[in-house]
Amino acid sequence: MDRLALVVPCYNEEAVLEISSKALREVLENLIQKGKIANDSFVLFVDDGSKDRTWELIEQEHQKHSNIKGLKLAANVGHQFALTAGLISAKDISDVTVSIDADLQDDVTVIEEMIDKFHDGNDIVYGVRNDRSSDSFFKRMTAQGFYKMMAVMGVKTVYNHADFRLMSKRAVEQFSQYKETNLYLRGMMPLIGYKTDSVYYERKERVAGESKYPLKKMLALAFNGISSFSIKPISLITTAGAVIIFLCILAAIYALFSYCIGHVVEGWTSLILSIWFLGGVQLLSIGLIGQYIGKIYIEVKQRPRYNVETFLGKQD
Ligand code: UDP
Ligand code: MG
Repeated sequence: MDRLALVVPCYNEEAVLEISSKALREVLENLIQKGKIANDSFVLFVDDGSKDRTWELIEQEHQKHSNIKGLKLAANVGHQFALTAGLISAKDISDVTVSIDADLQDDVTVIEEMIDKFHDGNDIVYGVRNDRSSDSFFKRMTAQGFYKMMAVMGVKTVYNHADFRLMSKRAVEQFSQYKETNLYLRGMMPLIGYKTDSVYYERKERVAGESKYPLKKMLALAFNGISSFSIKPISLITTAGAVIIFLCILAAIYALFSYCIGHVVEGWTSLILSIWFLGGVQLLSIGLIGQYIGKIYIEVKQRPRYNVETFLGKQD
């Protein structure tokens, strides 16, 4: 039987902690009863340097319930790192993990479906929202614009999937081989490459407390998502430079041709054109330098170059 770890990052979540602890324990009990997970499955709360009573509450829950574990980070490092810390700590003591936010916005009832899909042989199961009506119009528009932009930038992401996902032990193990410090988990999962599937659910309102993701953090996450996975923005600069140079040459040919047939183009044509031409050359050069920096950036990440799926035959 597989031991499940529910990994829950918490930052100043005193308002919801007990409620989510109860809900998640119920999920475990239900799955244990149905014989889908092992008896010693557990919830791991990761306290991301909270300033309120979150850790005290986690300690209390741990004392009351044997299936509640806690991990306290020394300082606030942000959702992505807190989640990573939880997953990596959980992987050695579990067979499968499900990460979920503390605020119960994600539907805990689909965890069962995730486990079923895991038993069907999937290593990663994404929780995908099929309804965003509980989000504000602004959040909906920005989020969807973001997913589209990621696609344009050539980053593989799962549309409308946040960090509610199941990962097998070996998927977490592979993930832990990605040593980069600019983390954008949603972008990293497709790189792992094992068999994946999705479950769909309706995203709800926060049970209590406030969002810990103000616009500033959201924009930072979005920028990180693009800049950690794509060097396309640099290519765009190079392209812009090349296009400007090309247009300048066309305009110069036009001006010269007009001059030859005795019709002088008005204004400071030659001056303006040379300014634009040089501007184009500069952009192109910056872009070229950028391409090299982009390559260095990708090299220093030292990502694994491949992940093995299976090996047939004896390995000795
Ligand atoms: N969170 C965290 N560290 C932070 C910010 C948030 O661990 O610095 C956790 C938070 O406790 C919650 C999850 O990340 O469990 C998602 O945050 P939130 O629900 O506030 O984001 P939203 O759903 O509004 O985007
Ligand atoms: Mg939330």
